[in-house]
Amino acid sequence: MSATEKILADKVAFVTGASRGIGRAIALRLASDGAKVALNFASNSAKAESVKNEIESAGGTAMLIPGDVSNFETVTKLIKQVVDAWSRIDILINNAGITRDNLLLKMSEDDFDKVVATNLKGVFNCTKAVTKLMMKQRGGRIVNMSSVVGLKGNISQANYAAAKAGIIGFTKSAARELASRGVTVNAVAPGLINTDMTAALSEKVKEVMLQEIPAGRMGTPEDVANAVAFLVSDQAAYITGQVLAVDGGMVM
Ligand code: NAP
Repeated sequence: MSATEKILADKVAFVTGASRGIGRAIALRLASDGAKVALNFASNSAKAESVKNEIESAGGTAMLIPGDVSNFETVTKLIKQVVDAWSRIDILINNAGITRDNLLLKMSEDDFDKVVATNLKGVFNCTKAVTKLMMKQRGGRIVNMSSVVGLKGNISQANYAAAKAGIIGFTKSAARELASRGVTVNAVAPGLINTDMTAALSEKVKEVMLQEIPAGRMGTPEDVANAVAFLVSDQAAYITGQVLAVDGGMVM
């Protein structure tokens, strides 16, 4: 690699939930590192379009791949769209996620099912759809967005914690299955990150959470994107099945 060549030149990345927040920051970072980026999202076309424009005006390449990650058939088609256009997928970032918070006493079956379907089954769907391809390519990087909530639980988030803890078991199993083919599978566990998802929390809840963070501040989407950029790089070739907390020291 020459000094001017970007570290992800010629790589193709598929980022779920790339229209906003952490997914947006990851997409922008991977594009600036030289990858072509397929931007998945659920419904927010205007936001996704602006991420695409931002990438393209910086000289990068992106395309929009809208669709619900919780639907197996949909995901198969989304991945095919990317492969038809760019012939390969080197990097999968399973980032799409939702919350439906409530105390267990009040949590509906639908609140549980929707969160598990999007946050956990979505990870299965997308990973399954790229596995054969990455094995054939004899290389690939998969990064799954877990959460500190998957490590320690949280009041009103039994559904979300179950999905995020499930992602960790899934990550370790997939890492074991794919390691011999040069495919690494890792999880990132963000703490309290400043996005639309956490904007919904009351100031009081945020203040209590901040007291648990040794770094004394919320994280930024870019803090998470930095960790992901490392895990998808050649530098991280010997790291698999790990959970990297990006949380200012909240869980240690
Ligand atoms: P966010 O700002 O709410 O953005 C969520 C993204 O996911 C959006 O792009 C959304 O698309 C997409 N999405 C939602 N449901 C989808 C579906 N069924 N299919 C495809 N895309 C879907 O969230 P965020 O805070 O950036 O969080 C990103 C990830 O990090 C999530 O997995 C979250 O659980 C995890 N995380 C966040 C924090 C935090 O403090 N923010 C902490 C730990 C972990 P639309 O724009 O179209 O709705």
